[in-house]
Amino acid sequence: MNALANEKTVYNFCSGPAMLPAPVMAKAQTEFLDYQASGISVMEMSHRSSTIVEMFASAAQGLRDLLSISDDYEVLFLQGGASLQFSMIPMNLMRADGQADFLLTGAWSEKAYKEAALYGEARVIASDADNGYRSVPPVSQWQLNPKADYVHLTPNETIHGVEFTDWPDTGAVPVVADLSSSILSYPLDVSQYGLIYAGAQKNIGPAGLTIVIIRKDLIKVPERTVPKLLRYDLQAAQASMINTPSTFSVYLAGLVFDWLKGEGGVQVMAERNACKAQLLYDFLDASDFYDNPVAVENRSRMNVPFTMKDASLEQTFLREAKAQGLLNLEGHRSVGGMRASIYNAMPEAGVIALRDFMNAFAKRYG
Ligand code: PMP
Repeated sequence: MNALANEKTVYNFCSGPAMLPAPVMAKAQTEFLDYQASGISVMEMSHRSSTIVEMFASAAQGLRDLLSISDDYEVLFLQGGASLQFSMIPMNLMRADGQADFLLTGAWSEKAYKEAALYGEARVIASDADNGYRSVPPVSQWQLNPKADYVHLTPNETIHGVEFTDWPDTGAVPVVADLSSSILSYPLDVSQYGLIYAGAQKNIGPAGLTIVIIRKDLIKVPERTVPKLLRYDLQAAQASMINTPSTFSVYLAGLVFDWLKGEGGVQVMAERNACKAQLLYDFLDASDFYDNPVAVENRSRMNVPFTMKDASLEQTFLREAKAQGLLNLEGHRSVGGMRASIYNAMPEAGVIALRDFMNAFAKRYG
């Protein structure tokens, strides 16, 4: 939530890089030129300095506290975005003649599946592709392979606005989850996962940082040749500092973790996020001007896609919304329509402003 020179409040609904909490941005601004009385910026410090090494440890601890991550797990601060995890995961976790299971619920799980297929036998356990990714295939249809090295899930599909939080017990097969667009938005039982990964640029901090939370028994020497930087075992052994890491992004992530703690943690976020999402979905459901294509039980609390019955009004909608300070409401280029991303940093006032604008727009053009 930023104020323009003319004092108009701006709300940024971008799916990522997304808006960051205003107090975090303000704190970073005060420290920008002179970090902890060092006379230099955090960006200008050696990653081998004790200040940065301690900053990494403290950010990792912040995340551990927020998600109650036990010592059975390693927290890694990597680069290459969530997309590089699409490759790193099979490179490291698939055995040489390995297999992995994929649930297809949207564009991102599809990408993860296609990338893994380059390294071994990737199998689709169920897919909603034929339905246009508007729901999650019922568990009764999942064909889980008990011999798989892991099963990959995308519990929040950022583009299609599809979310799920429950799945059957997968026994000895570890669950690998892409939580890029939902991490820290509700409490998680980390012990249910073998590996969690997330690009930072939605609920954590600036782009350039990728968080990996991996169960220690899954950290092994890979059964194929893997570049050093892409090996979990080496990254873990060297505290995510094999080479120069994304120091500024980790710094900001640490500030976001502090902010989250101050706000009451992920339980409070979950309550706020449920209210924000409900506000929008209730409005959409009551409207005959707008539509949301996703099955009610699978609607995302973070990414709310919507269309208008008259698609020719989309550009007018986006232009007028922007003029009102409601930014980045266009849907992903692959699906069109509109989308409001309402991560932790989006205040309820932003969602109310959007709903009121949508209501007024429908009255004018409906
Ligand atoms: N997975 C999900 C669920 C995403 O939303 C995104 C980015 N929007 C990605 C993966 C890819 O992330 P990155 O751009 O960091 O590679």
